[in-house]
Amino acid sequence: MQGGLAEGAVLDIIELPIDAWCMQCAKTTVVKERFDACPDCGSYQVQITGGDELRVKEMEVD
Ligand SMILES: [Zn+2]
Repeated sequence: MQGGLAEGAVLDIIELPIDAWCMQCAKTTVVKERFDACPDCGSYQVQITGGDELRVKEMEVD
């Protein structure tokens, strides 16, 4: 799909960073998408530690 306004809206969503833990690097990193590879080492052994679902849980606790 190509369209000026719609395209910009989609980019806003995709570019939201997601906190993740890379098992290869053994450190916290940030990925652009839920199943993205680690930007540092390229490994897909990345556990999402933040993001919309977990953020909702945190809000419920608070
Ligand atoms: Zn890594």
